[in-house]
Amino acid sequence: MGTTDTGDRLAIRAKNLTKKFNGLTAVDNINLEVVKGEIFAFLGPNGAGKSTTIRMLTTLLQPTNGEIRINGFDPIKEQDKVRKSFGIVFQDPSLDDELTAYENMELHGILYNIPKELRLRRIEELLKMVELWERRNDFIKTFSGGMKRRLEIARGLLHHPSIFFLDEPTLGLDPQTRNQIWNYIFDLNQKEGITVFFTTHYIEEAERIAERIAIIDHGRIIARGTPEDLIIKTNASSLENAFLILTGHTIREEIANNIDQMRMRRRMMQR
Ligand code: ADP
Ligand code: MG
Repeated sequence: MGTTDTGDRLAIRAKNLTKKFNGLTAVDNINLEVVKGEIFAFLGPNGAGKSTTIRMLTTLLQPTNGEIRINGFDPIKEQDKVRKSFGIVFQDPSLDDELTAYENMELHGILYNIPKELRLRRIEELLKMVELWERRNDFIKTFSGGMKRRLEIARGLLHHPSIFFLDEPTLGLDPQTRNQIWNYIFDLNQKEGITVFFTTHYIEEAERIAERIAIIDHGRIIARGTPEDLIIKTNASSLENAFLILTGHTIREEIANNIDQMRMRRRMMQR
């Protein structure tokens, strides 16, 4: 890993990054390099360490070990500069249900100290982009899952970040809405050169949109490269198939298992 050009060329750099929770090593000595302007997919089964990695990259969690640079800044020593650099859509819903779409945007703009005039202009532009301008005065609790996700995307972009983190932004959405969301993100990348770092359970999304991929399993990166690289390396017929060969299971099985587990837990609680 170079030490001189990294500040300029790389949006994200993680070196020997590790996170331990008591006895569990959730992220185990990983290295990541994401070039500015790139669309990068971070794939792995449930519990592999994706969200933990994102939380460390975005100042929300302190690493046990290792070094991070976000646009050349250190998330531990230069939190403010790092926080201005990125926008994020969290895995779990994070909107205020009791506020309107517009109020959610306003709140974020105020938290980020965006001057009023710029804030109003940008909110309008982004709500129009995600096709929610007409619904701006409606309460979040009346929104569908897809509308909420679109609003979270608009909110994450309000302060003009140069890096956009999306942690499973399309989980549970119908194919048409998923498509629409990736179209916005792809457009942003093409028009504004925003760096995109995302996770997803839908491998075909990564295959379609990601320039480079890293696959994490049990906290370790087990493969990386372009979608084509991974397919060729594993002699697979598709990226989905390559993932299966590399990790020993499909991402979907994991979801099914999780849903089964939830049902079982609910049944036990009802007894
Ligand atoms: P992924 O996002 O890939 O599904 P996570 O990063 O959420 O995986 O979790 C990785 C592992 O770390 C899991 O085993 C999870 O249970 C564990 N973990 C995550 N957060 C915590 C925490 N705050 N305390 C203890 N264990 C955690
Ligand atoms: Mg996660």
